[in-house]
Parts: sequence; structure tokens; C-alpha cells
Amino acid sequence: MSEAAIVLKDIKKVYKKSDKGAPETEALKGISLTIPQGEFFALLGPNGAGKSTLISILSGLVHKTSGEAYINGISIDKDHDRAKTYIGVVPQEINLNIFEKVIDIVIDQAGYYGIPRKQAIERAEVVLKDLGLWEKRNDKSQALSGGMKRRLLIARALMHEPKILLLDEPTAGVDVELRRGMWKFLRELNEKGTTIILTTHYLEEAEQLARHVAIISKGSIVADESMKTLLSRNKDKKLEDIFLEMTSEQP
Ligand code: ADP
Ligand code: MG
Repeated sequence: MSEAAIVLKDIKKVYKKSDKGAPETEALKGISLTIPQGEFFALLGPNGAGKSTLISILSGLVHKTSGEAYINGISIDKDHDRAKTYIGVVPQEINLNIFEKVIDIVIDQAGYYGIPRKQAIERAEVVLKDLGLWEKRNDKSQALSGGMKRRLLIARALMHEPKILLLDEPTAGVDVELRRGMWKFLRELNEKGTTIILTTHYLEEAEQLARHVAIISKGSIVADESMKTLLSRNKDKKLEDIFLEMTSEQP
């Protein structure tokens, strides 16, 4: 039997007090989740719920305070470098070198994973064409529109053909038509076998795409079930109402 794509056990994260006097924040209060291979999983939650913190722990940008995390069965504490080879990460913040050309951005990325240059060039053509960026390959990233930059982040994340793709609010600031194009792309990628984990605060996005949804609120998981079950358990309600009930402040 193959390993789950992602296993999280009681993950906690406390951001320490900053020098500037910001208070200590308990961003994750014990998150446990198991995401099987091939899943299309949405992590849904309002701003500040802890979604990016969770993604950043898996990608290695943030150190967890406690708990265990496994990517494709490999503990991130034991061998994060190897664990990371299985994931592609699309960060919430656009972190592209604005002076670098589109083609160089994706080819350099392949270099980090030890992919030979000739193979990287071939792969770049495939991913850039898939994401509608091939015509832009010789433009500097600063010349791209917001939606194109987001697509370039996806192209970059896919260069090493990861089994698991983590996307942190990939459609933030992307207009409706382009958002639908991105949904189609992600659906097809999932159908071809890539496990997709997507954070979003757009309910419609989660509903359209995900087979499984976890709702996170103030650092805790408040729902973790198939989208079908969640919706049928709350028969007369829309996802929006369920979400608001589960994430609102209780007096
Ligand atoms: P989300 O992605 O769901 O909007 P985040 O993971 O970004 O949530 O944030 C969760 C909580 O942790 C928030 O209260 C946020 O202010 C805090 N936080 C996030 N990053 C940092 C940081 N680098 N230092 C201190 N606090 C942080
Ligand atoms: Mg975030």
C-alpha cells in the first residue's frame, strides 16, 4: 500500500514575541490531518486562520513548534530535503525575481532539483505551454500581469514533476475568467494523478474543485470530511452558512 501524501500529527506553531513588541501568536493549536494520494483537498479558512503557516511548515519556510509531519511517508524532521522533492509549492506571496526572464525562472528551478539542463529546457516548454506562458518566455517577470505571475508560480512549482502540489491562495487577485481557467488546469492535473492541496478563502473555489475539505479556524480544524458529506450533513444550508457557523466567534 502506498503512503499517504501528507500526514500531520498534532502540529503546533507559536510565533514568538517580535522585537517590535508584537505579542506571541498561537497560530496552530494542534493540527492533525491525513491526506491520501490523489486527493483534491481544500483547506478552507478565514484570514489569519493558519493556512499559510501550515503550508510554510511543509515547505520548510517556517519551523513548527511541535508535532510530526510526513510527506509521502518521510518525516520532515528526519529528511526534509528528500521529503521536499515530492512537493511543489505555490506560495501566497508572489516571490519572483522581477528582472529574471520567465524561461530562466523555470529552468533555474529545475536546476535546484538536479534536473539536467537539456531535460529542463524540454520540461520548461511543456509547463509554459500548459499554463499559457510560452509566448511570454523571453519577458522579464515584472512585465507579466498578476494572473500570469500566479500561473508562472504554478509552472515553476511543477518543473520537477512533484507528486503533490500545494497551492496557497493561488487565485487571490485573479479575475473570474482566469480563475476558471486555472480551476480547469488544476482539475486536469489532479485527474492525471497529482495530489492537490489548496488553501483558499473563496468558498466557491473549494466547492467547485475539492472532493475533501478541512475548515481551519483560529489554528484549529473545525471540519474534516468529504465535500459531499459536509454539504449533505447540513442539508438546507449553503457552504457559506456552514463556513460562517463553524468559523465565527462564539459569544
Ligand atoms: P492565513 O494564511 O490563514 O491567513 P497565517 O498562517 O498567515 O493565516 O497566520 C496565522 C496567524 O499567525 C495570524 O494571527 C498571523 O498574524 C500570525 N502570523 C503569521 N506569520 C507570522 C509571523 N511571521 N510572525 C508572527 N505572527 C505571524
Ligand atoms: Mg495565508
